[in-house]
Parts: sequence; C-alpha cells; structure tokens
Amino acid sequence: MAVLAKAVKQDADSLLEKGHRKMDEKKVREAIKAMENQIAIIQKIPKYLGLKEKTDKKIEERQTAIEALEKQLPKKVDMRTEYKDLNGAMVCFEGFCPSCGCAVEYYRNKSCNRCTQMLDWSKN
Ligand SMILES: [Zn+2]
Repeated sequence: MAVLAKAVKQDADSLLEKGHRKMDEKKVREAIKAMENQIAIIQKIPKYLGLKEKTDKKIEERQTAIEALEKQLPKKVDMRTEYKDLNGAMVCFEGFCPSCGCAVEYYRNKSCNRCTQMLDWSKN
C-alpha cells in the first residue's frame, strides 16, 4: 500500500513537472466512448417487467459521467480578446467560457471557475 502511494505521488510530481494536464485527453475520450456504449447496451434491456425505471436511472448516471468527463476536454474560449502593451507585447487574453459563458482570463483560468470546463486559449 505504501509502495503504491509512493508510486502515485511520483507520478503526480512528474506530471506537474512536465506541466501536463491533469487528465490524459485520449483516456477521457475513451471513457466517454465506453459510457456511450454502455448507454446503448442498457437501452436494449427490455423495458417491460418493471425495469424501465432502473434502466432510466442507469442511463442518467452515465450521462452525468459523460457531462463531467467532457469538461476535462479543453474547449476554445469564446470571444477571445488579446491585450497588448504600447510596445505590442502581449499582456493577456480574456474571453468567455464556451460552456457557461462566465468571464475567464488567461493567467487565472486553465479551467472555468464556475463550471470547471477546461479551456483552450490557442488562437485558432
Ligand atoms: Zn464555465
């Protein structure tokens, strides 16, 4: 157990060192796909025999998971505005969260403070 904890910590440290995102985008996409596949399977379960309520609940749980996972995938900031100083050097970027419309700022927001959507600040 202690060995595992140590390994996890080292992993987290090396990720932070390299400035990686908290979650691997490829893995997040795979998890979303897996949830969607499960929903498709659950939808095929017969809705008679009083199972509908249970299947609806299971589908809803997976849709919630998909919603949360999708926030881990960076989305382009809306209305991204560049601010430059008098010498033309970039000072900062501002814009709006593509998921909830909250105002966001490059230096403060890798993700939205209100809805946790990860933000993509690249130009195009
Ligand atoms: Zn937001």
